[in-house]
Amino acid sequence: MGMLDENRHLEELDKKYIWHPFTQMKEWLDEKPIIISEGRDCFIKDIYGKWYLDGVSSIWVNIHGHRKKEIDNAIKEQIDKISHSTLLGLSNIPVIKLAERLIALINSSLVTRHSSLSKVFYSDNGSTSVEVALKMAFQYWKHKGIDGKHSFLSLRNAYHGDTIGAVSVGGIEIFHKVFSPLLFKSYNAPSPYCYRCEIKLSYPDCKFACLKKMEDILRENSSEIAAVIIEPLVQAAGGIIVSPAGYLKGVRDLCTKYNVLMIADEIATGFGRTGKMFACEHENIIPDIMCLSKGITGGYLPLAVTVTTEEVYNAFLGEFRELKTFFHGHSYTGNPLACAAACACLDIFEKDETLKKLQSKIEVLENWCNEVSSLSHVGEARNKGFMAGIELVRDKQTKEPYAWEEKMGWKVAYHARDNGVFIRPLGNIIVIMPPLTISKENLKQMLKVINDSIIAVT
Ligand SMILES: *Cc1c(COP(=O)(O)O)cnc(C)c1O
Repeated sequence: MGMLDENRHLEELDKKYIWHPFTQMKEWLDEKPIIISEGRDCFIKDIYGKWYLDGVSSIWVNIHGHRKKEIDNAIKEQIDKISHSTLLGLSNIPVIKLAERLIALINSSLVTRHSSLSKVFYSDNGSTSVEVALKMAFQYWKHKGIDGKHSFLSLRNAYHGDTIGAVSVGGIEIFHKVFSPLLFKSYNAPSPYCYRCEIKLSYPDCKFACLKKMEDILRENSSEIAAVIIEPLVQAAGGIIVSPAGYLKGVRDLCTKYNVLMIADEIATGFGRTGKMFACEHENIIPDIMCLSKGITGGYLPLAVTVTTEEVYNAFLGEFRELKTFFHGHSYTGNPLACAAACACLDIFEKDETLKKLQSKIEVLENWCNEVSSLSHVGEARNKGFMAGIELVRDKQTKEPYAWEEKMGWKVAYHARDNGVFIRPLGNIIVIMPPLTISKENLKQMLKVINDSIIAVT
């Protein structure tokens, strides 16, 4: 078979065998799929040899770029020792090293008066780390002898993953509504979405009316609520919704006041995405439970952790017959290859001064957001650190959105794709989430392509 025939064959086989996630396959079958064969730094190459700038960091996970030598080598070295061994009843070297480093990192980043995070529970993707957090919070209260905390409080526009527990605390109608008969009950507080405030107020005159609504729910129902779960600072999949300064701290204070645990889902925001190592750092808070995944291995291998306090952990200690054991675990929990990649990823943060070098690139992104916000169909261009969302609107004055079916975000994304930049929108929101290590030159080039695409399409 010639090269061209082989590529066509791959396209046929994809369509024949693969069901892609979050994808209307009927449309997929009508399009030419992009099949990736290679990556380097912040670029990915398709089978025809065309290079694209990876503007979504391979769906928000790849922070140091592709084929980063240190991570490649760490995995290769670990392969020569052992690739997998279970964490059920055994331990392994990379899980121990990584746990120690994560706890040290978290505690050097998050400094407060509260108790610190000290225990690491491993799993293998973001959704499972959320499942772990929910079950852990629920069972914690049982062990404390407090009955009835069978529910959670989550936010509208929240996204915590696609497993049923995570969907139960999700708040994105388009993704989640169809499953509602299957879900457990969760209380919903307003999304801190100032551009489209549910309460029709504006910050700061609102005096955090959305937090007051949350407090109303907690005041009435805290006896039923095990935990508040929140994406700190940025509701990512909900549309890069950036909460106003002080909101996160307000949530922490309410959790303490009403005796519910706080679960911080840092799966999207963790590992530098907001400009600091963790989003919680910006408001100096410590959650009771923290979920981390996505960037943890530099986007190489699936891995997640649910980190918690001594207080939560201690509640599960007891005699064997008391059945206080945390009955949860996955086949690939604590995979040594993934943990070795994660350790290398943390090394790079130190050695390359990733966060320090990121700051001036955040400035470039922020300035660009200010510029594009004057375009006639950009309602709001918002960012927190190195994640940005450009909200396209039909009418700037009335904030009337484009109809979902119009696929405006997708039209912009396709235009950018034709010009060498791969992005994936969330409805009408253009998401910008490049690797943290992208060069300033490539960043500017990417922003220019996106800018031109918005103008060309809207
Ligand atoms: C991506 C994401 C998840 C789910 O992680 P998966 O690895 O895709 O299961 C959960 N919470 C947040 C905030 C996320 O961005």
